[in-house]
Amino acid sequence: MLHRGDSVAQNRAHRAGRPPTGPPIAVDNPASDAVVGEVPDMPAEEVVQAVQRARRAQKGWAELDTRARSEFFKRGRRWLLTHRQEIADLIVEENGKTEEDAIVEIVYCASAFAYWAKRARSLLATTRIRSLSPFLLGRDMYTRRAPRGVVGVIGPWNNPLLNSFGDAIPALAAGNAVVLKPSEQTPLTALLMERMTRECGWPEDVFQVVTGAGATGSAVVDSVDFVMFTGSTRTGRLVAARAGERLIPCSLELGGKDALVVLADASLERAVNVTIQGALSNGGQMCTSVERVYVEEPVYDAYITLLHERFQQVTSGRPAGLGSVDVGAVTFPPQLAVMADHVRDAVHKGARVLVGGKAVEGPGRFFPPTLLVNVDHGMTCMREETFGPTLPVMKVADAEEALRLVNDSTYGLQASIIGSDVKRARRLAERFEVGCVTINDAQTNHMALGLPMGGWKESGLGVRHGAEGFHTYTRLQAITTNRFPMRRDMHMIPYNPSAYRFILRLVDAMYCTGLRGRNR
Ligand code: NDP
Repeated sequence: MLHRGDSVAQNRAHRAGRPPTGPPIAVDNPASDAVVGEVPDMPAEEVVQAVQRARRAQKGWAELDTRARSEFFKRGRRWLLTHRQEIADLIVEENGKTEEDAIVEIVYCASAFAYWAKRARSLLATTRIRSLSPFLLGRDMYTRRAPRGVVGVIGPWNNPLLNSFGDAIPALAAGNAVVLKPSEQTPLTALLMERMTRECGWPEDVFQVVTGAGATGSAVVDSVDFVMFTGSTRTGRLVAARAGERLIPCSLELGGKDALVVLADASLERAVNVTIQGALSNGGQMCTSVERVYVEEPVYDAYITLLHERFQQVTSGRPAGLGSVDVGAVTFPPQLAVMADHVRDAVHKGARVLVGGKAVEGPGRFFPPTLLVNVDHGMTCMREETFGPTLPVMKVADAEEALRLVNDSTYGLQASIIGSDVKRARRLAERFEVGCVTINDAQTNHMALGLPMGGWKESGLGVRHGAEGFHTYTRLQAITTNRFPMRRDMHMIPYNPSAYRFILRLVDAMYCTGLRGRNR
């Protein structure tokens, strides 16, 4: 068991005395089919033990002040950047994406280390609360935020670093320990992060990785204090149901069917470049990928001509370093069938394939960038998440029709608008039933760690990023102090009618008649 600095072996030695269980899970390179590593399929008992160790480690971690924790983050950030080639190579190897797409993940985590280290202090600060209630005269009140304890992060395979370890960073900054369950498809990058914590001298067991399939994830939900889940809506529902039974909170970042709207006053060059980046970066395997486009009728023909020309120039295939290809492999084997089904259904119902359309022969799993026109909302490709480099484009009469179609979805993660009149675009954005909208951009919001990111409808619950995303990793405690307690307050038992008449006069004066007895 072995990969890159035998992180799995070290991982096991680190937890001495625990025998391997069940057959290991082989990890393949989606761009070559070669097996590049294997990891243990950890049963529930091992997850429980990991959570118990995390619980013990968390106490000391939470007692450190934010400055002390940020020192560990500083070491982590440097490690990340000095080992960037090793990390990028590993992400490319187990996920099949391009090196450029892997670099995005490393840049995200380096900036997350810096950002949350800097912001944690103020986000964890106490807040004074005031009250004019006659029952609270002279009281001193504040809220404080305590860590939840052990946070379970369950990650997907499309971003093995960013959507897994990336969510662990703010959870750790808030004073939690983290147990991370990566996708069985791409577990090696998470284990490399465990090695990072050891080499950077982090307190033992404050960050641990448990490897395995769905059952291991389920065991995480069964034993932690909070779950941060990224993955499919189907599994998200299971996680939420189980968390509900245990009465623990969870945050869910689920699927999407993100739309891009091209308004008639858009710069077509910008529109086409944003479309291609939004639809094809990471091979279209993002919950935030542009998966459907609506173009206002006056610019439809010119937009399609340019998009068609540019789509043909996009290269795809086995990544071999910077600049080798634009679109890499299909990470998760069942996705190939999903992409093929969506294209087949569309063509059957009258769509036209302008570019691509069929999976490419192996070795490796590849689906070429695929451009579809003549599509409508009766087609699966406009309604269900494809999670691949396919893009259906539809002509609409005007922005009102685009709005109706954008909102005609069970998903509500993100959307984009391209147009020159920014005020008009913002007015339209505010009518979209989605959690995030980017104007003249796509996906860029994800890099703004101060900006909450989360889905509406079946795209999720809660947010990551921003104060709200950080506070999700904390529990709120309210402390009320009577600094100058009298022997007895006037409202206390035994009740005194004149005291209550006085209270009512006071409340009247405050909220109804005013001090001079006039109505307010
Ligand atoms: P899943 O939602 O099944 O997997 C996400 C994570 O949850 C993985 O680590 C998985 O483990 C784990 N898991 C699986 N079952 C359970 C369970 N019962 N309790 C707790 N954790 C569990 O997604 P898939 O990998 O199957 O992908 C399917 C679809 O999800 C894709 O086609 C795509 O549409 C969508 N998706 C969305 C993503 C997003 O960013 N929102 C990312 C990836 C996929 P394991 O992988 O080991 O089974």
